[in-house]
Amino acid sequence: MQNRGLNNKKASGWCRKLLSWYDDHRRDLPWRNESDPYKIWLSEVMLQQTRVETALPYYKRFISEYPTLQKLALAEEGRVLKLWEGLGYYARARHFLQAVREVDCQYGGRVPDTAKEFGGLAGVGEYTQAAVLSIAYHQPLAVVDGNVRRVLCRLFAITEDTSKVKMQREMQRIAQHLLDPSRPGDYNQAIMELGALICIPRAPRCEQCPVAKLCEGRKAGIAAALPVKKKKKVLPIKQYTAVVLLQAQKCLIRCRKERLLHGLWEFPNVVTSDDTDVELSSLLSTPVTLAKDVFQLTHEFSHLRWQISIVLGETTGEVQPQGDGWRWVTVEEMDVLPFPAVYQPVVKMVQKKLRDN
Ligand code: SF4
Repeated sequence: MQNRGLNNKKASGWCRKLLSWYDDHRRDLPWRNESDPYKIWLSEVMLQQTRVETALPYYKRFISEYPTLQKLALAEEGRVLKLWEGLGYYARARHFLQAVREVDCQYGGRVPDTAKEFGGLAGVGEYTQAAVLSIAYHQPLAVVDGNVRRVLCRLFAITEDTSKVKMQREMQRIAQHLLDPSRPGDYNQAIMELGALICIPRAPRCEQCPVAKLCEGRKAGIAAALPVKKKKKVLPIKQYTAVVLLQAQKCLIRCRKERLLHGLWEFPNVVTSDDTDVELSSLLSTPVTLAKDVFQLTHEFSHLRWQISIVLGETTGEVQPQGDGWRWVTVEEMDVLPFPAVYQPVVKMVQKKLRDN
């Protein structure tokens, strides 16, 4: 096993300095000093791919509505998605709800404390398992997220491509070796906090860093360029046309059945083509006339980019949309249903139109 200059003396010096810095500088966040595994778990789910500042108001709203696991287990999925609206990666919310229901039914409402049981719950991957079990149950499991990966690459001047599976395993090994088993939860939060506040992307604040003397990347003058990642692929683009249809103070929307954004609501849409109006007429089983004014929205997912043309439409016959999940909704109902971030400007525009009519 490659050692990367990691002897026990260096590892214990690293832990001491890191934890002492964390004790003095950590941000005061509602999930810290929290012993309820449910709340710790929620915070970890919300923080995946998401900055603390973004997640914070969502966490507070969520906990104020669902202060206990038992209360959440009884929640409607639509309401949970509404509370998640704008936070993205909605599968996290659906899986969390499913897992919480499993805990309520199978484990009497107590979040399990073994890797086998907790790791077997819906949506619980390696990161969530290590984070929750270390913070809530003090188990010696190291987390590796983007912040940890960046800190470790710089600390050991690792210049290999960290997106490769082999390197991901190596990161996990190093993280586990460095972990302080006497304070695993604090240690994990400390290294993530260092990555979020000091060892930040592009321009690390080495002059404020508690472990600067141990840092090989800083010594070699290459810290800012690490970690090395393979170039981002150009995302494929999908173009859609979505129509806004209003009738009797209501607007037509559809609940998505697709895996992407499952359970969120959208406006009737088809893939943009030369025959978009024909396609929309066919979807709604009635001739649809599209207005000339169109506005464009774009949204980037991790694997693809949506470009959506939003257009007002009119119909002459009775709308009988194909498939299920369609509803004519009022302004008030639109307030309650969850829409993806990309459609938020349309929701606001439609609500204004309905109110002004
Ligand atoms: Fe990161 Fe700089 Fe600290 Fe190294 S010295 S861990 S590069 S902030």
